[in-house]
Parts: sequence; C-alpha cells; structure tokens
Amino acid sequence: MKLLIRQGRLVDPVGGIGGVLDILIEDGKVAVIGSDIREPSARVIDASGLTVCAGLVDMHVHLREPGFEYKETIASGARAAAAGGFTAVACMPNTRPTIDTPEGVSFVKERAALAGGAQVWPIAAVSKGQRGQEVNDYEALKAAGAVALSDDGVPVQNANLLRDAMILAHRQGLTVLSHCEDADMVQNFAVNEGRVSRQLRIPGRPAIAEELQVMRDAMLAEETGAALHICHISTAKSVAIVRRFKRKGVAITCETCPQYFTFTEDEVLRQGALARVNPPLRTPADVDGILEGLKDGTIDAIATDHAPHSAEEKARPLTEAPSGMIGLETALAASLTALYHPGAMSLSDILRRMTVTPACILRMPGKGRLAIGSDADLVIFDPDEAWTVDPERFLSQARNTPFAGKQLKGKVKYTILGGEIIYKEEA
Ligand SMILES: [Zn+2]
Repeated sequence: MKLLIRQGRLVDPVGGIGGVLDILIEDGKVAVIGSDIREPSARVIDASGLTVCAGLVDMHVHLREPGFEYKETIASGARAAAAGGFTAVACMPNTRPTIDTPEGVSFVKERAALAGGAQVWPIAAVSKGQRGQEVNDYEALKAAGAVALSDDGVPVQNANLLRDAMILAHRQGLTVLSHCEDADMVQNFAVNEGRVSRQLRIPGRPAIAEELQVMRDAMLAEETGAALHICHISTAKSVAIVRRFKRKGVAITCETCPQYFTFTEDEVLRQGALARVNPPLRTPADVDGILEGLKDGTIDAIATDHAPHSAEEKARPLTEAPSGMIGLETALAASLTALYHPGAMSLSDILRRMTVTPACILRMPGKGRLAIGSDADLVIFDPDEAWTVDPERFLSQARNTPFAGKQLKGKVKYTILGGEIIYKEEA
C-alpha cells in the first residue's frame, strides 16, 4: 500500500529536513520526501497545518503483563502508546514472572505482535527475579530480542552485582538502565522528604537517596566502561552529577518524565495518591534543574515511566496506594505545554529527546529517524491544538494520571508504523 502525506511541516532533529513537504510511503518505508509529489494510487493524508516527525519512542514503560493484567496488558498498552504518538515503547521487566529468560522476552514480543499498536521492545532484568543476587544470561536475553537491561521497580542495591552486571552488559553491547534510589532511605515512603512530608507528618524519600545512587552508578560506569542510563532523573543535583560525568567522557545518559518538569511536591497536597510516584515529585528548584538539564542536553531523553494501576489501588490512602502514574497518552502534549509553548525549547530539541536519542540508547539503529529509506514510523500532530485531558477516553486500561482535567496543547492526529496507520484521531 502506498501512503502520501501531503503538506505537513516536517521536523527532523537529525538530518535537518524541514519545511512544508510531502512524504510518499511505499512498502513500509519512506520512499520520497519532496514538494508536490503526485502518486494517484496512494491513499492521501492531508497534513496541512500539522507537524510530521518520526514516531515517538518511549524507552520506559510498564505494561504489567504477565501477572498484572488487571492494571494493563501488552495489547492495551501498545494501543495507548499509538494513541500518544509512539511507534515504539520499551517495557520494563518487573512483571510476574520477571522477564529474565529468553522465553519471557519471546512472550512479550509475541503478545506485542498481536496488539495492533506500537512496537514493544522488551527490556530484560539485570538480576534473576530482580532479587539483586545473581546476574542473568545477557547473551541469551539479547539473542531473544531484549534491547536493554534494568531492574527498574526493584532497583539494584548490591553494588558488587551491579558492577558485574555492567561488565557483562558491556561485553554484550547492552545498556544498563538504572532506577536510582537507596532502598533503606526511601523504604515504602509516599512523597519527597521536605516541606510536604513535614506538613503531612509522614516520612519522605530524600533527594540524597537518588543522588547517592546516581553517583555510585556513574562511578561504576566510569570504571567498567559500560553504557549506563539513569531512569527518571528528578533532582537538580542528579542532573549536575550526570553533567559532570558526561564532561569526563563517561558513557552515561539519562531521561526524565513530564511529571518531573510539570509538577512539584505540592501536587500531592492537591491530588493525593494520584501524584504519588517513584522517585517522588520534588521542589521548584529541582524542576528548574530538570529544565536546565533538558535545555543544555544533559538530559538525553523524555520517557513516561507509564505505570498503570487500578482505580481501586489508587483510591487507597496516600501512604498505602502504589506508586506510579500513566503517561503514554499525555506525554507529547505535556512536553509541548511545559517546554515548547513557553519558549523554553524548540520543537526539534523536544522531539529529538522523544525519538532518535532514546532509540540510540536502546541500540535500535535507524529507529526514531525520518529520512528517505527509513522505516515509515511517523506521528502527525497539531502542536497548537488545546484539549482537556479526559482519562475516560484513554486507550490505556488505567486512569491514574495527574493530568486529568488539565488543559494541554498538542494533539496527535495519526500514528503510522511501517506505513500502516495504527492510530487515527476520532473525528
Ligand atoms: Zn523506576
């Protein structure tokens, strides 16, 4: 099937193709980019007034299957991703069972192939059962299709194991993705340690719990030479540590999520458990540090940490509810609203962090790119259209978003994967 996207404004953070152009897609690939392409046999999408770029890549989601299908399934998550403009998501292995075997990786891939949504790239666990005691067989996991390694959800506390893991991951050419929080310091606490935890008279998760492990992991990356990626960075000091190690030439990258540059810890006072997330929402100074890190390139990627929970779970009291928020269907708009519309960052710089850079960190060459010959994975969106977030309209099974009822700017119109339309906005 041929598809002709007409008159869209192309944004390409890498190759610099820009302006209002047509794109002809043939056999799942971008065949021609040019002005006024004529191809009578093609299905036409009128993209005038809209922006076209490479499909978004989310390097950090939780799809909950196997084991927690009441929260989300691979199918519902993949379709929610498509609705958010994502053509690929990398899913964390903290399921039941943990994804720590080639069979587990294959299971995720098989489910994803049936979903009819975004591609799903499995991340395998660093340690067996995410217990932090024994490394997995990374060679076999990679051969089965794992794109990276992480114990996100149950962060590695054992520095010796992490060191071994990095050496072995480096040999296999796999990046280790690290959720940095010291378990003893954060326990199961619900909020940032600070003004809000004091006001609520509950213990909090201190910033230093994150920063200590960012420092520890960065030093291990320096020593082992392994590629390290810090997940959902949330404090100004964490950003500063990553900046320092990058300057030294250490192979370290990091991501943040829209919640960390949109909200402060005060959101917990307004929204309770809906604003509970690990690491927690922090202070205004931390939000400033995150924005600075995004602007100067210290923060490489914007991910969602999409973490679905049931309504019943999130209705529990703040200290008993599970942590996490969904983000696939709001990430683009939330990023444009917080970063692009106020003039803090260009569209191209934002999209780079949501397409090509996460694909590179996950070693998926050619993905996240819009160029002649590349896979026809695209998103078409209106960066200026305002809409009010209504979780009842989400394709995700879950509703736990702190953006509910908020007005955001930026609306996905079409998501195209390998030349097939996997999402089209309802008229
Ligand atoms: Zn995490």
